[in-house]
Amino acid sequence: MALLGRIWNTAKSMFVGHSITLREMFTTPITVFYPEEKPPMERGSRSVPVLKVNEGTGLLNCVSCGLCERSCPPSCIKIEQALDAKGDRQSWPEAFELNLSHCMVCNLCVEACPFDALEMADVVELCSYQVQDLIFDKQQLAEIWKTSRSLRVANGERL
Ligand code: SF4
Ligand code: SF4
Repeated sequence: MALLGRIWNTAKSMFVGHSITLREMFTTPITVFYPEEKPPMERGSRSVPVLKVNEGTGLLNCVSCGLCERSCPPSCIKIEQALDAKGDRQSWPEAFELNLSHCMVCNLCVEACPFDALEMADVVELCSYQVQDLIFDKQQLAEIWKTSRSLRVANGERL
C-alpha cells in the first residue's frame, strides 16, 4: 500500500507540475528584456529628490531656507545660501548638492519643504560605479525634474 501511495503522489505531482508549465506556455509573460525594453514606472514612484522649477519664471522654487537639509537623516543635502555684495543673505541657493549615494529615498526632505520646491522624481537610471557621479548640483537636479514624470501639481491638478 505504501508503494502504491508513493506512485500516486509522484504521478499527481508530475501532472500538477506539467499542467502549470503548459498553462504558463500560453500566458503572456510579465517579464521584459530590460534595458532594451523599459516598462513604464508606476505613477508616484520615488527615486531621487529633485528641485522644481517655476514654469512661469524658469527659476527654482527653493528659497534656501535649509529645512530639507536639516530634516535629512543621512545628511545628504548640502545648501549654500547666496549672499549679496554686502554679505546679506539672499532667498535662493548659491549651491544645492544632493549625494544620492547616501539618500534612502525617505521623502522627509520633500515633506519638510514649505515652498513646494522639492519633489521625488521617478528616474531610476542614475546608477554609477563612481560615487562622485551620484552627487548632483542644483542644475542637474532641476534638469532631472524636467524629464521626470513625478506627481506634479499645476493649477490644482496633478499632471
Ligand atoms: S529622501 Fe530622505 S534621505 Fe534622501 S535627501 Fe530626502 S530626506 Fe535625505
Ligand atoms: S526646504 Fe525647500 S525651500 Fe527650503 S532649502 Fe530645502 S528645497 Fe529649498
